[in-house]
Amino acid sequence: MAEIKLSEMRDLTRIERIGAHSHIRGLGLDSALEARSSSEGMVGQTSARKAAGVIVKMVQEGKIAGRAVLLAGQPGTGKTAIAMGIAKSIGQETPFAMLAGSELFSLEMSKTEALMQAFRKAIGVRIKEETEVIEGEVVEIQIDRPAVAGAASKTGKLTLKTTDMETVYDLGAKMIEALGKEKVQSGDVIGIDKASGKITKLGRSFSRSRDYDAMGPHTKFVQCPDGELQKRKEVVHCVTLHEIDVINSRLEGKLVRAVTMVNLFFGALLSVRWQRFRFLLAMVRRLLFLWNLTITQGFLALFTGDTGEIRAEVREQIDTKVAEWREEGKAEIIPGVLFIDEVHMLDIECFSFLNRALENDMAPILVVATNRGITSIRGTNYRSPHGIPIDFLDRLLIISTQPYTGDDIRKILDIRCQEEDVEMSEDAKVLLTKIGEDTSLRYAINLITSAALSCLKRKGKVVEMEDISRVYELFYDVKRSTQYLMEYQSQYMF
Ligand code: ATP
Repeated sequence: MAEIKLSEMRDLTRIERIGAHSHIRGLGLDSALEARSSSEGMVGQTSARKAAGVIVKMVQEGKIAGRAVLLAGQPGTGKTAIAMGIAKSIGQETPFAMLAGSELFSLEMSKTEALMQAFRKAIGVRIKEETEVIEGEVVEIQIDRPAVAGAASKTGKLTLKTTDMETVYDLGAKMIEALGKEKVQSGDVIGIDKASGKITKLGRSFSRSRDYDAMGPHTKFVQCPDGELQKRKEVVHCVTLHEIDVINSRLEGKLVRAVTMVNLFFGALLSVRWQRFRFLLAMVRRLLFLWNLTITQGFLALFTGDTGEIRAEVREQIDTKVAEWREEGKAEIIPGVLFIDEVHMLDIECFSFLNRALENDMAPILVVATNRGITSIRGTNYRSPHGIPIDFLDRLLIISTQPYTGDDIRKILDIRCQEEDVEMSEDAKVLLTKIGEDTSLRYAINLITSAALSCLKRKGKVVEMEDISRVYELFYDVKRSTQYLMEYQSQYMF
């Protein structure tokens, strides 16, 4: 397996953000697992949140293995929000992967591969790496600037107080490298000749010394921290198994191509004469290009999601490597949360995949959600609760979500206005809450942004009732859209 540079992947793990739920920071429970009326972005839905809190406790005590959670309730009752709240309550680093059941059937890969990728997106690996770092306290650098006007030019030096520890450490490290650790103490002053880069210890405190004069202008002085600067520090990178899969899969594919190119290269070497040297150079350049492409494309694939199918062998190698790291104490597994919405869209094959996947000791916490009642299991004539086969249903801890009260809707709208930085008048909020009660919470939330745009267009600063009414007329909710369709059905194509 090709080695990869994990430090470069550090920032990729947190890319996944779902705007509509950006206000959710946890489940908003107190220490007795009681739901606070409004906390961590969560409002209402108290018994579902309390049940979700018990799930978090079970996860923390390692008692959830082989089981999964089902959130069942009407559309827009906060199932996704609760699933995110579970992930956030387990830990801020907990990976959260989200997938809608219908997506499995529209991707350019088999549904079980898509499920496998989703599972591995929800498994984090915390990798520890030991690096040499320099630590110290002193942050004063004195730089000779004879040409600087004013006070500085009189003394021929400019004292630069800096909090830029990088600069201090950098100079301190150079000093240690040049003079040896034993000879360097806190408060030492050094000179670095800018022209030659030569480092000299000038004394314990700065004074305009002969040494300094000898070194000429543009000499830098640093009051250096202790000789005990070099310390080993643990740096932690968090990635998901899926990210490791993608990078390695790309590297592997491109490696095969690179090996072919090497073969080609040596084949060419045998057949060409010296005057064809340029051709060889061109081949070498191509090889380097290919290698670069390999790495770039691995990262690109992560951003675009265009990962293709990943071979089982690659995953096995990665699992073995991760297991080795775990044994050596270099890595830890962070089981995340995999949220599958519209679980009624899955078929029997998907459910049997999930049944098996849950048995894996690295399995993430599986949270599935549906807004369906008794319906047929996809691809069969059997009907079952939520369209889920009974054997899978038996594994599930079922939490039901309830429709929101007007008061809850108002509080959620308040939070969303804050989150989207939208100022809204009291009247407008009352109207929007009423709309939320009559249509749906999600429709009302969607109107916040469009009403803010309408307000901007009339050069207003605060969203008023007129903005809400305007966008309410512009965008139909489900009820009005259905009504419209029924009225004008004959004018549509069948
Ligand atoms: P669907 O069945 O259509 O998938 P859902 O039950 O998953 O819907 P969400 O998407 O979670 O509903 O909720 C709709 C919106 O309301 C989201 O922006 C969500 O963050 C917000 N929301 C829902 N419930 C709460 C809550 N209890 N507290 C704060 N925000 C909430």
